[in-house]
Amino acid sequence: MSKLIVANIKMNKNVMEMKEYLSDLNAESFSNELVVLSPTPFLFLSSVYSNLTFGVQNFYYKDEGAYTGEVSLKMLKYLNVKYALIGHSERRKNFRESNALINKKVLKCLEEGVTPILCVGESLSQSKKDNLLKVQLKRLLGQALRGVKVTDLSKVLIAYEPTYAIGADAPSDLEKVESTVRIIRNIVKSKSAKTQVDVKVLYGGSLNPENYTAYLNSEELDGLLLGRASLNSQSLLKILR
Ligand code: PGA
Repeated sequence: MSKLIVANIKMNKNVMEMKEYLSDLNAESFSNELVVLSPTPFLFLSSVYSNLTFGVQNFYYKDEGAYTGEVSLKMLKYLNVKYALIGHSERRKNFRESNALINKKVLKCLEEGVTPILCVGESLSQSKKDNLLKVQLKRLLGQALRGVKVTDLSKVLIAYEPTYAIGADAPSDLEKVESTVRIIRNIVKSKSAKTQVDVKVLYGGSLNPENYTAYLNSEELDGLLLGRASLNSQSLLKILR
């Protein structure tokens, strides 16, 4: 079954490097699906490399107005943005993004027909106690998905990223990831009473060409969110094939 691989370029690459990278990917066909979360200034390249699907790492939830320095999703849609990353731990931590703001962004994506990739995860201390882990995930998902229609729940992609595994030496243990993903699915499903919700969940955090296989093949996971491992086109192609 084909899985979704999301490449989070973060604030990396210059325009020449980005062109080379996208041209390598654009020239290949692969069995998994790819979304490139490009740095915003390089999204103009989406019209050149039209075999690829693009997403954005950040946006502001308002359409227009006196919001100096911000970029709206409506503007980004002109640059072929189909996905938007929301609630990444680097934005929560470095830019103090609140769950209330994250919720507004999720709702905006759904209104605009852009797929939100909602990141949730626990800290190392929360991961060690089952009840703390559940409370944290319930809190994050409850706040981020507030006001989302039951029929829209399956349009939200969840990226499970334990904060201690991002930019670290090793991913979280696969068994632990799988049991946490089951918890996440149950929390989202519990918001929908009778309707069947098909919850799609990705895992992210310290995956690389040496350790990704078991995560990619896991029946609990619909795909992977890659940071460092996505920066090199050849490493990424290895994972995509
Ligand atoms: P990493 O980053 O793969 O470099 O750990 C993952 C992420 O930030 O989503």
